[in-house]
Amino acid sequence: MHKIGVLTSGGDAPGMNAAIRAVVRKAIFHGLQVAGIKRGFQGLIQGDIIDMDLGSVGDIIHRGGTMLFTARSDEFRTEQGREKAFQQVQEHGIDGLIVIGGDGSFRGAKLLSDMGVPTIGIPGTIDNDIPCTEFTIGFDTAINTVIDLVDKIRDTATSHERTYVIEVMGRNAGDIALVAGVSVGAESILIPEEKYDMIKVVEKLKRGAARGKKHSIILVAEGAGKGFAIGEVIRELTGWETRVTVLGHIQRGGSPSAFDRMLASKMGAYAVDLLKAGERAKMVGTMGGQLQATDITEALATPRKPDLTLYHLADALSI
Ligand code: ATP
Repeated sequence: MHKIGVLTSGGDAPGMNAAIRAVVRKAIFHGLQVAGIKRGFQGLIQGDIIDMDLGSVGDIIHRGGTMLFTARSDEFRTEQGREKAFQQVQEHGIDGLIVIGGDGSFRGAKLLSDMGVPTIGIPGTIDNDIPCTEFTIGFDTAINTVIDLVDKIRDTATSHERTYVIEVMGRNAGDIALVAGVSVGAESILIPEEKYDMIKVVEKLKRGAARGKKHSIILVAEGAGKGFAIGEVIRELTGWETRVTVLGHIQRGGSPSAFDRMLASKMGAYAVDLLKAGERAKMVGTMGGQLQATDITEALATPRKPDLTLYHLADALSI
């Protein structure tokens, strides 16, 4: 192996830059050349590829987003698109590829691997929705961002004695809502993985009000319902002034936390070691703080559940 490629794909996540840096530096440490592929699989198809050296990843470890840019590519989902990508890999003499992204990006990486390009996936997504790893790069930063924002909203909720519904990211996974919800002391947390009953949510709000509680925070993962719709139901059932905030893309940005920088540095370096050792179609993960590699196919077939003990803890603590 002489040259490896690295790309970021799907939604950006804080810590992706730290992962790119680790890949580039560890590869050069091993005497390998590195090609940076811009805009994910779409950039690969178009040959948007640059040579990377030690200096090209300087001053990025603390920056959110991704210096290689990211994209979603419908063309790569087609056989012709993947054939074009394969041609570019050959033309640029790339012997192995590291894909930093979510589960969709890993599906793409597996298909490239089946065509003969060794690939390793690094989980980079704020949603923490990838099996076979306790944490994905960007999740820790995102929950800290959410906590900071909800704390600020709580000041207003307390001062104006209002109920606030706050919608956070998480189409299929409630991890952000769960961890942030427990951390901000939310009254109710609504996640896509667990059925909820608005009558019970409102009963809890009313019990709180009966003991003198003047404000409440309800955290909703976007996959569990639209914040504005939930707010409307609460307003109808209680007659209380209920405000709704949708946090949106602000959750994806910002300087990565220490945890995400560490995770990204470890995973990036480990991914290079795996490629160098002849591994392919594997994803990097961490379990019990230890790095591990899992077959992408096996990982994507593994059912994933959030830590429901947090769900029950939140319920018990907001009785
Ligand atoms: P996130 O969910 O965090 O945004 P992701 O990697 O899951 O990240 P996707 O948009 O699902 O994001 O996937 C990124 C890209 O990977 C797609 O635009 C597409 O080019 C490629 N991809 C996804 N699924 C497949 C698939 N089944 N076959 C081929 N390519 C795929």
